[in-house]
Amino acid sequence: MNFKYTDYHVHTKWSADIQENGPVFNDYLEIAEKNRINICFLEHYELYYIERDKTNPFYNSKIDDYLEEIDQLKENYNGILGGLEVEYYQDRETELREFMDDYEKDLDFIGGTVHEWIFNYPITSRAKLVELLEKIQMKQVIDDYFKVYKMMIESKIFKNVCHLDTIYRYINENDLKPSDDCDTTEERVLNLGRLCIKNKVRIEYNLSGIRFPINRSFPSKEVVKQLKSERAKFFIGSDSHSLEFFEETIPKVKQAYEFLGLIN
Ligand SMILES: [Zn+2]
Ligand SMILES: [Zn+2]
Repeated sequence: MNFKYTDYHVHTKWSADIQENGPVFNDYLEIAEKNRINICFLEHYELYYIERDKTNPFYNSKIDDYLEEIDQLKENYNGILGGLEVEYYQDRETELREFMDDYEKDLDFIGGTVHEWIFNYPITSRAKLVELLEKIQMKQVIDDYFKVYKMMIESKIFKNVCHLDTIYRYINENDLKPSDDCDTTEERVLNLGRLCIKNKVRIEYNLSGIRFPINRSFPSKEVVKQLKSERAKFFIGSDSHSLEFFEETIPKVKQAYEFLGLIN
């Protein structure tokens, strides 16, 4: 690797939630080199969409093209890693294990992630979350998130997990206010983190929350501090979906490394 710091969570148009004219690898690399930071590309890899949606960038085994593109870039530049943000589905554990057996060795980094557990209702889309909340009570949605996330950790499919408490991206006091019966205690997030420690899973310190009204990392700095004192292992990601956010978050990524003492 080229530099002291690495942003482990960057999306290009290989991710389905980025426009066709969105950023490509080289757009990021230029900024990364100038700011002396390595990049790990962590594109969304969601089995259900890859199988069903012809417009998904990974439809029809395109993962091989992705790996080839990364390999080509590595010939001239050693500040990059090729990774995937792989969606956990509780009913697809067998396929996910097969996928890991086939591809884990070819990728530099894989992060497990939970955005949805009911197909096409990702809680990381505000519009979809609002739709979901018309059908299912908020307390239940939050409880289900924690339940599925716990299953992901305990499945031991992944060695790294992304944005531990991203359920609060839109459900928080600054946005969709939690109803009184919701358990939104810090303890609950800490317990997920403790489960990661127990299962030797690295936790993401995800800096994307500053883009949203919640205006904090996932998990919060306080939770990260506490889990660190309990010997959790972390990786740091901006979860950039644009060049602008990537560039403006670089100083924060570097500060996060210092905060966590991840620099040798
Ligand atoms: Zn994500
Ligand atoms: Zn992401």
